[in-house]
Amino acid sequence: MLDKSSSRYNLAGKVKNMDVAIVYDNDAVGEFISGWGFSCYLKNKMKVLFDTGWDGEILLHNLELFGIDDLDLIVLSHQHWDHIGGLNHVISMTSQVCVPETFSPNLKREIARKADLIVVRKQTHLGDCFYSTGVLGSRIPEQALVAKTLVVTGCSHPGLDKILSSAEKLGEINIVLGGFHDFDKIEILKKYKTVIPCHCTVLKEEMLKMPNTRRCYAGCFFEV
Ligand SMILES: [Zn+2]
Ligand SMILES: [Zn+2]
Repeated sequence: MLDKSSSRYNLAGKVKNMDVAIVYDNDAVGEFISGWGFSCYLKNKMKVLFDTGWDGEILLHNLELFGIDDLDLIVLSHQHWDHIGGLNHVISMTSQVCVPETFSPNLKREIARKADLIVVRKQTHLGDCFYSTGVLGSRIPEQALVAKTLVVTGCSHPGLDKILSSAEKLGEINIVLGGFHDFDKIEILKKYKTVIPCHCTVLKEEMLKMPNTRRCYAGCFFEV
């Protein structure tokens, strides 16, 4: 179980037994570099990168500090520059890229030149313990990733509550991680064991006053 005392920061060398690592965020710790955007690495039997931040050089730098150079799957949440910008720098590390059906035909075609493209519309099993929530929202369509009891979001443009109710169809959710954008129904977050507001979360400081929240930085990692 994740609690406040079990979080560690990797400041030197490679990480062992890591399950989840923040590799790109607006904030960073130690030698990790910050940048506007989000990317998160999840390792179970499969090694998955969720989103790629904006600046591929920063993403590579942060991945290298964690010793990550090999992926089974990249999942992209939505077609915004701060989530897909780093893709071209890391696409050679993976054989598969999963995108929402709503991505532009040109972008899908370019990605398919370099990796197997998985196009998602509905809730989908992506292998191992990983599931897509399916594409939610219409103005800025977005998918989130569910792994065991954790859900990780890109920007939560469709609304975090909408993402959570889709994720909870797959089973119990204990950890809510990612960008929550302008989500303001803070009460809803109190029932989760751990909430980690990252990236674009407007009410981040407000949420961090709750006892179940943790601060997000590029360079932090934890086990689930
Ligand atoms: Zn966005
Ligand atoms: Zn964003």
